[in-house]
Amino acid sequence: MTDVDDERDFYGTFSGEIRQARQSLWLWAPWVAHRIRSLLPELRAADRGVQIKVFIRDDTDQLQRKDTSQSLIADLRAVAHTVIPMHVMHQKIAVIDERTVMLGSLNVLSQSWTREVMLTMRGAYFARKLLAHEHAETFARPPRCGRCKGAEIEIRRGKNGTWYWRCYAAPCKTTPSGRTPAWTQDIRLTSGRWLRRWVTDVTFSSAPPPTPHPSGFADAAAEHVRDTATQGLSLEPPPYPAPGMTMAPDHGIPLSTGTV
Ligand SMILES: [Zn+2]
Repeated sequence: MTDVDDERDFYGTFSGEIRQARQSLWLWAPWVAHRIRSLLPELRAADRGVQIKVFIRDDTDQLQRKDTSQSLIADLRAVAHTVIPMHVMHQKIAVIDERTVMLGSLNVLSQSWTREVMLTMRGAYFARKLLAHEHAETFARPPRCGRCKGAEIEIRRGKNGTWYWRCYAAPCKTTPSGRTPAWTQDIRLTSGRWLRRWVTDVTFSSAPPPTPHPSGFADAAAEHVRDTATQGLSLEPPPYPAPGMTMAPDHGIPLSTGTV
């Protein structure tokens, strides 16, 4: 962990992290309000190739539905690569370069006066595990509507826990005889490239180290070693059991180290 910030200090830390970003910024920020105006210059990081993907609340939310919010969301869409509405979303997360996680209570794009706390943590293992948990890669690729072929697709979750895409385009739900239910499609959750297999292998298997993941594994493993060496204290379990290290069968915490 590198920082604990309140609502006054957070934006300095956040701006610094975005300025150093080289590849990606993932953001879960439920509401969009005036605060975004001061952040739009930072989000121009997209101009230097940083992929910006943002999840926000859908506009069935009373605050989000306001004209001001809708106008600011249009500004956000002009700089971010992908903006995906998610029904009753409440997570507040930023993940930068798949390595830095900022997590806590603060609504990054709307905070104005409330007391908040945000933690900044570094580590590729944790960052990618969190991205996998949020289904980031799958959720950032909505399909076209199967009825109107439009791109106004949001994410919802049924009472039984299943996730589905839903077209929110008003004309799509309008028929000559009145209204018709929105087009929906279940989301197929595939194992994303983020270490789903790696996490599973480390957590539940005492098998030999898995084959390096085609993307990210070797980098993440190297980063883990570097983080541990440079910071002394790491949030991360090792990417695989090191020689002489026994992994606990249920939660992957190293039980002992020593020579074999
Ligand atoms: Zn549609």
